Amino acid sequence: MSAANPTAARNADLVVSAEHMLPIAPHNVVLHDAAIAVAGDTIIDMGERSGVLARHPGATHRNLPHHVLLPGLVNAHGHLAMTLLRGLGEGQSLEAWLQETIWPLEGRWVDEDFVADGTLLAMAEMLASGTTTGSDMYYFPETVAELAQVGCRMQVTFPIINHPNAWSQNLDECFERGLKLRDERRSDPLVNVCFGPHSTGTAGEAALRRIAMLADELDAAVHIHLHETKGEVAEARRSLGQSPIETLEEAGLLTENLQAVHMTAVSDLEIAMIAECGASVVHCPMSNTKLASGICPVPSFREAGVNVALGTDGAASNNGLDLFLEARMATLLAKLGSGDPAALPAAEALEMATLGGARALGMADRIGSLEVGKQADFIAVDVDHPAMEPLHDVPAQLVHTAAGTRVSHTYVAGECRYENGSLATIDVDDLRHRAAIWQRRMRHDA
Ligand SMILES: [Zn+2]
Repeated sequence: MSAANPTAARNADLVVSAEHMLPIAPHNVVLHDAAIAVAGDTIIDMGERSGVLARHPGATHRNLPHHVLLPGLVNAHGHLAMTLLRGLGEGQSLEAWLQETIWPLEGRWVDEDFVADGTLLAMAEMLASGTTTGSDMYYFPETVAELAQVGCRMQVTFPIINHPNAWSQNLDECFERGLKLRDERRSDPLVNVCFGPHSTGTAGEAALRRIAMLADELDAAVHIHLHETKGEVAEARRSLGQSPIETLEEAGLLTENLQAVHMTAVSDLEIAMIAECGASVVHCPMSNTKLASGICPVPSFREAGVNVALGTDGAASNNGLDLFLEARMATLLAKLGSGDPAALPAAEALEMATLGGARALGMADRIGSLEVGKQADFIAVDVDHPAMEPLHDVPAQLVHTAAGTRVSHTYVAGECRYENGSLATIDVDDLRHRAAIWQRRMRHDA
């Protein structure tokens, strides 16, 4: 960010200081008695508390005496409106869960109101647990983009799906509506719009080739569920004679703009293919575990040089949207899966939850770490709790205890959106009321 220099000449509006600070970049550094200075939506200065305060005498000072300050978390894969389906289809495998529970419910209930209420509910939960940026793959992406103005910064992916649904009647309409939204949001600093084919099977080969052509022309990201289960890969090999990764390669979609979600069933060759093209992997450990889908070989991807981000997936397969828990699950699964307790240390899991997500979404120049010139997307975790004493290892305590429940402050683009239990821009009582109405409707329907 060339325009941004630490400059005492520019006046900060706000200085936030904390007992500990984890800027994420540089890696695994913990600062003490540190502060950031914010002007508008941007971090303009940072460093030792007294120095920052001296350089910005006119700024409002917020001191957080027993907190850890860190960049806002980046949830790189979700279906936000599915919060309204939370807890349904418990105990089913991915295929049964989708075909017998989720798709019929979505066919019956999803409309613009469902997406508005479910998405806002998700954003409330995300802000309250420290997530400042999300990625959504769902119907009515226009609604999600609008809600980013009061909720989280968003990558909004529009569905490319070859069967009629509440949002689109056919593939042409998906492309038309999605590209129109991308055009409308081109200068929106809080929203990135890109392609979101659900999977190779549900999009079809012709649509994948069309996406590849347009994504290349527009330099746009493509976000897709890929190799989620062994069954998905086996079915693709049976029906198409190739794996989903091979289908993407043939379509011209193995590029650095690819965000490959899940990747639990992959060979060494397929890991090398992803590494070679520069794509990112989005690991969703809670969802993969709950649906017994498989384990993404995160250490192998990282050894191959692949950027790995973290996502919650939808609340219906999780059942929450707390990215600190994903970081914890990621490090535990990496250790168990590899038989190596040194695999994926907590600091690396936190980096995946922040900068790794930012890199995957193509936003690393703006978010993912506390650095001068980046957006003021930051959170504070209150560590004044018996489970956090003594604090020998800050990253380990954040990852291995329930840090998401101890988030005290969440700022997006310099704006405080959550503070000590209260959401500044979302009416939680009204939201709770509307969620209860949806629950009654679905129960009545069942
Ligand atoms: Zn998903």
